[in-house]
Amino acid sequence: MTLLIPDEYPKSLFRDDGKRLDGRDIYDLRPIKMEVDVIKNADGSAYIEWGNNKIFASVYGPREVHPHHLAKPDKGILRVFYRMATFSVFDRKRPAPGRREKEISMIISDCLEPVLFLELYPGTSFEIFIEVVDADGGTRCASTTVAALALADAGVPMRSLVTSCAIGKIDGKLVTDLSGIEDKAGDADLPVAITWFNDEMSLLQFDGKMTKGEMDTSLDMAQDALKKIYDMQLEALKRKYIKIQKDVQDMEVE
Ligand code: UDP
Repeated sequence: MTLLIPDEYPKSLFRDDGKRLDGRDIYDLRPIKMEVDVIKNADGSAYIEWGNNKIFASVYGPREVHPHHLAKPDKGILRVFYRMATFSVFDRKRPAPGRREKEISMIISDCLEPVLFLELYPGTSFEIFIEVVDADGGTRCASTTVAALALADAGVPMRSLVTSCAIGKIDGKLVTDLSGIEDKAGDADLPVAITWFNDEMSLLQFDGKMTKGEMDTSLDMAQDALKKIYDMQLEALKRKYIKIQKDVQDMEVE
């Protein structure tokens, strides 16, 4: 990963050949890899590599709520703990959860809650622990995406998966999936998440400047990117069950 401090931001975020600094075209996502069932002690878990981001999510629940006073008599609660490891960024991150981590935890929780049937689990909690071990822009989107996968891996009933991705503007051009340097040195950042059961956006944040027309185009670009990422989530889940099926078939043969 290229490490840069603000004084060293590149003059242009596009190369002479028109590609982005990491070689992508404007609509390209960074390379994404996903895997479920990666933490044996969790009820469900998932791992994502999204560009240089490396993120684990583990899910526990439904289980008793601690501290008890947080429990709700009429529904379950969802608690999300997004954390960045001290070594996940260029400047060592303080280990205590800061304001940013608390805010991102809340955002991810708001993104995921609409797909859960919390009303069926009064007095209990679902907890999602998200550990960013390497961060390079778009960690809230990658975390939301991997957390949804971990919930599905845990067998938690869900109305649908949730998928998230950012669209941004760099050097005046709209681009899909901002990298860390594009996020820092670019003009605008628009993280979006979708709940597929109703095609509604459960996250829409915006930082920077865009015209109304650019905003409309960004949402169309987000729709295309989200569909690609959703297909990868489904493939990651299917791979687990294909492996189980194969293991069972192998046992039957023996
Ligand atoms: N970042 C960092 N130190 C921090 C927080 C963030 O270096 O304390 C970097 C990290 O690479 C992160 C990026 O800045 O992915 C953008 O952070 P932002 O708050 O915009 O959230 P994100 O884009 O990760 O959702």
